[in-house]
Amino acid sequence: MSTAPFNNLPDQGPAGRSAAGTAAGLVQIGSVEDLVRQRLEAERRRLEREAGLERRAARQFHRPIERPFTKAERDKVTILFGGLTWKHEKLVQGALERLGYHCASVPVPNKRAFQLGKEYGNNGQCNPTYFTVGNLVQHLQSLEETGLTKQEIIDRYVFFTAGACGPCRFGMYEAEYRLALRNSGFDGFRVLLFQQSGGLNQAEAEAGLEMNLDFFLGILNSLNIGDVVNDVAYQIRPYEVNPGETDRVLDECMDLLYGVMKRKRPYTLEGRFWEWLKKTSLSSTATTVGKFLDQLYGDDFTVVLHEVRDRFNAIAIDRTRVKPIVKITGEFWAQTTEGDGNFNMFKFLEREGAQVLVEPVGTWITYMIHQAKQKIRDQRGIDLVGQNISWWNLSKIFSSHLNTQQKIAKLTFAENVFRREYHRLVEALADVPHHLTDQYELQRIGHPFYNSRAGGGEGHLEVAKNIYYSNKDLCHMVLSLKPFGCMPSTQSDGAQSAVVSQYKDMIFLPVETSGEGDVNAHSRVQMALGEAKVRAKNEMKAVLEKAGVTLEEVQEFVSEHPEMQQPMYKYGHHKGVIGTAANFVLHAAERLKAERRELVAVN
Ligand code: SF4
Repeated sequence: MSTAPFNNLPDQGPAGRSAAGTAAGLVQIGSVEDLVRQRLEAERRRLEREAGLERRAARQFHRPIERPFTKAERDKVTILFGGLTWKHEKLVQGALERLGYHCASVPVPNKRAFQLGKEYGNNGQCNPTYFTVGNLVQHLQSLEETGLTKQEIIDRYVFFTAGACGPCRFGMYEAEYRLALRNSGFDGFRVLLFQQSGGLNQAEAEAGLEMNLDFFLGILNSLNIGDVVNDVAYQIRPYEVNPGETDRVLDECMDLLYGVMKRKRPYTLEGRFWEWLKKTSLSSTATTVGKFLDQLYGDDFTVVLHEVRDRFNAIAIDRTRVKPIVKITGEFWAQTTEGDGNFNMFKFLEREGAQVLVEPVGTWITYMIHQAKQKIRDQRGIDLVGQNISWWNLSKIFSSHLNTQQKIAKLTFAENVFRREYHRLVEALADVPHHLTDQYELQRIGHPFYNSRAGGGEGHLEVAKNIYYSNKDLCHMVLSLKPFGCMPSTQSDGAQSAVVSQYKDMIFLPVETSGEGDVNAHSRVQMALGEAKVRAKNEMKAVLEKAGVTLEEVQEFVSEHPEMQQPMYKYGHHKGVIGTAANFVLHAAERLKAERRELVAVN
């Protein structure tokens, strides 16, 4: 060790070393020891710093206290939101405007958004985090380019998004938004959070955004209608005779539906009796019941969906085109977005000659309810153990079990109501959209490969949907869109190899989505799609042989029957037959042969 500390000691001089200095000498020795200790401590800190062992005081993360969005600001502030398809977002916008909010959706995230997300956010996030966070920053920057100052943007806009407490990176979205906003110069921009496990009434008093029953019903109806209309469009577009017609009709229908969402007034108590009731303590309960019944038995949405059905039905289609059906699964955002976030995969698949089977948001909602029920069941009786309740304390045991049953009953009720409402909309569109998949069936088939209690992302759904759609003859190929850096998707990737080894006929392709590498991803999809096309063609060949007709005969027959060229025409689904064309040909062949028999009988 260096002698420098001693060299640096003040010179004591001859007088200092005299007898007079015993006490002073002790002081001196003491100060040398202190100095040595200080130097030792400094050296230790330096070495620890170099070795990365620095001891830092733990700092707990605290959610920043934001300026609240208040009721008084409602007229001046625009609520921004995004993350779904443009169809869902347009309807959500209508529903929020109906409740008196100014709102706008942010555009579909593109690659520039991804780059901004990387630039301003933390490292090591998953793909959807970069895209969605960067997209908000990009949108705010575009507002700035219109001439607004940063402060004006902060004052006049808020962002509304879903949040969770994990277990995957979804739990960090809120913090990521705030970090990126701060880094991009929008510190103080307000992010409003809807906790996906929070249920109704997440509103605070005098909150600018009241998350009450009207709000939830508006959002749920928008999502459900968005789902069914989206599903129909994806079923028609690959078979349209006049290119672009489906998109044109879809645009018109969305304008129509947006208008209805915007105009539908929330239910209120009206009439003399209700006026009287309003003055009593039953007012709030009566209003809630009224809103609920209005939702269950009102026909505002089904009537307009009949109009949508008829408009879609006017599109001429040719179902004899042989196309492989590709079921999209994967992570929620990656399988929903229609842009760079998943390499524009839906458009690519349609261009390559496939029919895309999209995933409705409704599956996610029923999954959330299913998981909540499972959790309650798993926790049954834990409170009794926690409180050391003895086995003979029957009243406590009974009340604990009753409490559990009540919670499960409420969720079962919510589940059934949700499914009923969804299927009412499906029916209004002539049963063309797919029904919601049964969560219990998905759990049953997915659980042996992926524990259904492992939460995060889509949990066991990715695995279960792969088996379900392949085994039920609903698709030729499953394409799983998995964002890079996605923890749950990485887990399910491992489980999928066990699934594929057990179900040998399955064509399953997992593709990691990112902000780059489109060509590579598209080329992988093309290869798997080639296999699916061969399967679809072979299936058609087998069907024609079985039916004893030629494709030309079927096509001629269909041309003589215009109703068979309509999208809402029913042709059924035959066991073991997947493709639209194959199922349609089987049906058409039956009709054709029946007509021939009739002709023979008449002659
Ligand atoms: S599921 Fe995956 S991609 Fe989605 S938020 Fe969680 S970690 Fe990210």
